Amino acid sequence: MSTTKYIFVTGGVSSSLGKGIIAASLAKLLQARGYRVAIQKLDPYINVDPGTLNPYEHGECYVTDDGAETDLDLGHYERFLNVPTSQANNVTTGRIYQSVIEKERRGEFLGKTVQVIPHITNEIKERIQILGHSGDYDIIITEIGGTVGDIESLPYIESVRQLKWELGATNSLFIHLTLIPYLSAAGELKTKPTQHSVKTLMESGIQADILVCRTEHELSDDLRAKLALFCNVERNAVIQSIDASTIYDVPNLMLEEGLDQIALKKLNLDDTQEPILQRWNQFLDRLKNPKGTVKIGLIGKYVELQDSYKSIQEAFIHAGAENEVAVDVVSIHSEYLDPSNIEKQLKGLDGILVAPGFGERGIEGKVEAVRYAREHNLPFLGICLGMQMAVIEYSRNILGLKNANSTEMDAKTSNPVIDLMEEQKHITEKGGTMRLGAWKCDLKKGSIVHDIYQADSILERHRHRYEYNNAYREQLENAGLVATGINPDTGLVEIVEIPTHPWFVGVQYHPEYKSTVANPHPLFVGFVAAAYKHKKQ
Ligand code: GLN
Repeated sequence: MSTTKYIFVTGGVSSSLGKGIIAASLAKLLQARGYRVAIQKLDPYINVDPGTLNPYEHGECYVTDDGAETDLDLGHYERFLNVPTSQANNVTTGRIYQSVIEKERRGEFLGKTVQVIPHITNEIKERIQILGHSGDYDIIITEIGGTVGDIESLPYIESVRQLKWELGATNSLFIHLTLIPYLSAAGELKTKPTQHSVKTLMESGIQADILVCRTEHELSDDLRAKLALFCNVERNAVIQSIDASTIYDVPNLMLEEGLDQIALKKLNLDDTQEPILQRWNQFLDRLKNPKGTVKIGLIGKYVELQDSYKSIQEAFIHAGAENEVAVDVVSIHSEYLDPSNIEKQLKGLDGILVAPGFGERGIEGKVEAVRYAREHNLPFLGICLGMQMAVIEYSRNILGLKNANSTEMDAKTSNPVIDLMEEQKHITEKGGTMRLGAWKCDLKKGSIVHDIYQADSILERHRHRYEYNNAYREQLENAGLVATGINPDTGLVEIVEIPTHPWFVGVQYHPEYKSTVANPHPLFVGFVAAAYKHKKQ
């Protein structure tokens, strides 16, 4: 019998209801009561991981220390809980099938017909329990992607139905997240879609224990009673999730609604220890009472979709609160940025961040943005492709290598200042083959980064194929673009700075993935501080 407790979160009526935020908020409250909690996301799509997805499809691809390319919800889990996630925290249908098919090829099913039930469902159940079996957690929250009733989520729903019985009574719990729409013509909140969605879930053998109702208006007592009656849940298990001004308010809103308490009761766990949310509330207090503002330009090519740069946006929220300033992130499309309009578009910014990215589209605009930041002494942070653009800009405009480029954009350039990494040269498969996950980097004494991190060596997460070409290092350093972070094992340049500029830092890795509420990332904190200083001058 299991000692770990499992909470399954499903969604109904509509997508984008914020299952990830509800899961993370509940986890935060349970953690604040002293429980060791992990969150996991099951994604019903057939890609083996989201690494091959365009950001326009599902937003940013998040990266863990162990090099998993995952759904962006894992970013919320880390930002809320301050506990690192790993490969085991995100599973897709593609990965499940891949693993079952590999087992079939090895003959592991001993001549049996391989079927959705039991083979796929067994694989899903195993994946769900990996974290629980580690012994590191008291409670696992598993978020099932998609919406109940979708064909592709059926195997997951069936798996958790089976698991409920295998785990034993009081060891698991179902939370169903739904939408209560407001019909303005009728002036009423409507419960019917929720009734239907709860019914759909019951057709698959699952009775929701708790309903979390997304709504734009307060749920009245009558409406809560009606939902309880029609959906077969206890009255206090109808939880209102009203639109919040920031996602970081949701844990407190759930606390007021008693979500954590009722979950603990149903799991037969102690609920007498009050949640300790001191650090969290201190962050909220700073977030909501800024003493100033800074305006940062985010130069990218996926700016139309908010979620494409999720972790960067969130890292700015953490860093703003830490500096007690509100960070106004202005998204600027690099594709439409050129020397004729750059002054107009970038004027009034206190800092410029050039975003990560892939492929040729929009890169000349990024180079122009770097140039603007460099020439105007504007604080600059380049992340991954943004760092590579800084090297290209410096090579072109200071070293005079007019055709300097990355071989990603121009395979034939005679000045490949950014080039494919040696170990990448013979790789042809796209999925999961970049330089991924946490790598060590030694910091140069006296540099901005050494001062910011207050460390000689750091570990940061990567996701790229191209690198700074060391053949140009001497020239670049002599001309004033200094390498201040080096991987000690490979000699790869991970950070560049211009010591004569007030604050100019390009990093090959992604600091945004490691910023959390409890630990705002030092680079973002330093960048926002530099931008604020620039503004005041
Ligand atoms: N496209 C670049 C590379 O592969 C940068 C990747 C990134 O910004 N994440 O090296």
